[in-house]
Amino acid sequence: MLTFEDETPKAETRSIPGLDGPLQGLFKESHVVEAASDAAAEEPAIAGSANRRISVEDKQIINCNADVNQLVPFKYKWAWDKYLGACANHWMPQEISMSRDIALWRDPNGLTEDERRLVKRNLGFFVTADSLAANNIVLGTYRHITNPECRQYLLRQAFEEAIHTHAYQYIVESLGLDEGEIFNAYHEVSSIRDKDEFLIPFIDTLTNPHFKTGTLETDQQLLRSLIVFACIMEGLFFYVGFTQILALGRQNKMTGSAEQYQYILRDESMHCNFGIDVINQIKMENPHLWTKTFREEIAALMQKAVALEYRYAEDTMPRGVLGMNAPMFKEYLRYIANRRCQQIGLDALYPNANNPFPWMSEMMDLKKEKNFFETRVTEYQTGGALSWD
Ligand code: FE
Repeated sequence: MLTFEDETPKAETRSIPGLDGPLQGLFKESHVVEAASDAAAEEPAIAGSANRRISVEDKQIINCNADVNQLVPFKYKWAWDKYLGACANHWMPQEISMSRDIALWRDPNGLTEDERRLVKRNLGFFVTADSLAANNIVLGTYRHITNPECRQYLLRQAFEEAIHTHAYQYIVESLGLDEGEIFNAYHEVSSIRDKDEFLIPFIDTLTNPHFKTGTLETDQQLLRSLIVFACIMEGLFFYVGFTQILALGRQNKMTGSAEQYQYILRDESMHCNFGIDVINQIKMENPHLWTKTFREEIAALMQKAVALEYRYAEDTMPRGVLGMNAPMFKEYLRYIANRRCQQIGLDALYPNANNPFPWMSEMMDLKKEKNFFETRVTEYQTGGALSWD
């Protein structure tokens, strides 16, 4: 019979077989257990503020002592607006027909070997990337952002990361790809593994149950991890992959996958913008964090990330494909890195870098509210799924 003690989860770290190095850290199950108890201890006490109504001035984006359960009055209206905007953009992967992609993939003459490699490498990165993103939010960032309207957006963002992982899984399943190969690419393909190994120490900082903000050092650690997540992971590491699949779609190939990626790109643009707003708000409320040394460190991380993403571009496109080649991405990554730096108040790292893919801004600034029910679906929704011709 189980005693109470038997049922209490052990706090020790369990190894995940086959996972070595920095990747192991992300799967320490104890994080979840300890995080829950630590969060309870650290969370601003509800009892302490039970007799007091909070005002806008009480609110702070980090290290706030006001009751985090009082969503209003709003202080950060931009966060609430982004939450509403994200909800208005709701979509699900099954709403997009994959039938043309399936036919093209099965046709031996449908795609070139280089195009197939590009699709498989692309999914190899993304199938696990949005899971890393979700873990970062749910097990890390959420605890350290002490503002309810920002947390409301983070809850929505976490679900969107789940939708994205679902979309990639749906493409893998539709095309009948080898799941083991695709889902293990982040261990087995060095250009993908290197990107993840760059990110994971910053995610580990936030998911570590013993990490708490409140000192210069830890507040800088939090800010650094938030910058890596928003400006590098979501803001840079996704862009070679997005451009590649959308380029296929522009040539009328893999149009279902391209449409999925278009909706993912729309969500991710908002994730990136929300992250940048949070970063700038933290800077504004805590200007002492933004030291010269810190700024130089961020610039160096950005340069390293550009090099890693360029290596990924070379690996996914050893030859020119779809009218694109790896050197074009060098320029594109520099252009994006400049933009991310400027968005958080740093100087551009690569003066005069231009955008070789101007059509990507159209994709990103997608304003259309596509009516799925009008254009494609043949049967109305039943139990969360749709049927197709
Ligand atoms: Fe995201």
